[in-house]
Amino acid sequence: MRSHLLNDATAESYRRSVIEGVERVADKLATTRRPFTGVTPADLAPVIDAVDLDKPLGDTSAALDELESVYLRDAVYFHHPRYLGHLNCPVVIPAVLGEAVLSAVNSSLDTWDQSAGGTLIERKLIDWTTSRIGLGPAADGVFTSGGTQSNLQALLLAREEAKTDDLAKLRIFSSECSHFSVQKSATLLGLGADAVISVPVDRTKRMQSVVLAAELEACRAEGLVPMAIVATAGTTDFGSIDPLPEIAALASEYGAWMHVDAAYGCGLLASPTRRHLLDGIERADSVTVDYHKSFFQPVSSSAVLVRDGSTLRHATYHADYLNPRQPVAMEAPPTPEGLWGKIPNQVDKSLQTTRRFDALKLWMTLRVMGADGVGELFDEVCDLAAAGFELLAADPRYDVVVEPQLSTLVYRYIPEAVTSPAEIDRANLYARKALFASGEAVVAGTKVDGRQYLKFTLLNPETTTADIAAVLDLIAGHAEQYLGETLVHA
Ligand SMILES: *Cc1c(COP(=O)(O)O)cnc(C)c1O
Repeated sequence: MRSHLLNDATAESYRRSVIEGVERVADKLATTRRPFTGVTPADLAPVIDAVDLDKPLGDTSAALDELESVYLRDAVYFHHPRYLGHLNCPVVIPAVLGEAVLSAVNSSLDTWDQSAGGTLIERKLIDWTTSRIGLGPAADGVFTSGGTQSNLQALLLAREEAKTDDLAKLRIFSSECSHFSVQKSATLLGLGADAVISVPVDRTKRMQSVVLAAELEACRAEGLVPMAIVATAGTTDFGSIDPLPEIAALASEYGAWMHVDAAYGCGLLASPTRRHLLDGIERADSVTVDYHKSFFQPVSSSAVLVRDGSTLRHATYHADYLNPRQPVAMEAPPTPEGLWGKIPNQVDKSLQTTRRFDALKLWMTLRVMGADGVGELFDEVCDLAAAGFELLAADPRYDVVVEPQLSTLVYRYIPEAVTSPAEIDRANLYARKALFASGEAVVAGTKVDGRQYLKFTLLNPETTTADIAAVLDLIAGHAEQYLGETLVHA
């Protein structure tokens, strides 16, 4: 079995098996004609069930053959131009290469003695990101597993900085379109059930800062503590960006921590033409970025950045075996400061211990393509969304909710014949499911004012307006079919 361990003796077999795996995926990419096969859980469950995990195949080629039927054949392919579903991106090749390198070397970014240069590479990318945001000289941060974890850590720091023992008094303000991880974090952080105040959005789905101001005033009047304001820079559903300068002014007036959740909108940091949409983000106390959304990175790749690096101490714990509080006495160290004293241990800043070297993917991306290269890709999908909006707005079959700031379109099919709102909901829901079952395209869904809508999240620069037009025709066809059938049965 040692022949399966990666080491000097197996270097050649490692090379061959990785090449074989890469070739199969490359063939797959070159030949998939649809984003999805339409397979159902009932179709696929018996295929997976039939695999006996206690009877190994013994060799990688056989396992790859089997992988074809258990996974590759029916996976949902984000690189396909008609995958328009969730916030998933096609990935750039330098990042995939980084992924292959980082998992083979298997550095762990908790301590210097498990990563060496990896730690410095991560730190440099954190500095690169904080300077793009404009957080100033004391800024710092750390890579995380995703926006959910980044938001949790940011709100943990905000809770500690609020410096009150009475957790029931703490309040977080975020828009009604903010990500559910804000609510989840509040619960995990032991805040009360009423901790998150949901601030209404305007017609363009941006937080109403006038209402925020009133809520903050009410909070103060009731003797409660405004712990944090979470501004969303790119809401998950609409891509709308809350008014960051107004929110920053209110945060400083009321002494609240300003967190900007830019999990989606962070791609603007690299955009050659749209960076101004994030103006005001430089006033944040903390920022969430998901490189695995708008920097075209493989999952996972995310970071939390803070204006004042010293606040990261709230996540610091010590273990004798890992990152001892006192410098470890080495054999005749020159000075502790000179040797262990300045050893950078990223675990001091992280909620995780063992941690992937995800930063390497972004590193390879920036070294090969440069920031403009990534930003141009994000610009392209924002342009595409603008063109898609024109299509939808001009199409009498559809009602589109809001002109996109980023790359998301929320719309619904409206039949010509008069029918009930509930029936329209069902027709849209049906169209989404039927489209998914056909595998021709994948779109998402959401609710707006309690009604069922459909959503395109555009993150693939290969998608064209012709794709969008074709998918709209498919949706209309499915919706009409549903309405036709219910009419017949009625
Ligand atoms: C996706 C998203 C998150 C959660 O990020 P994950 O990486 O999925 O954990 C948080 N906030 C916003 C605005 C998002 O779009």
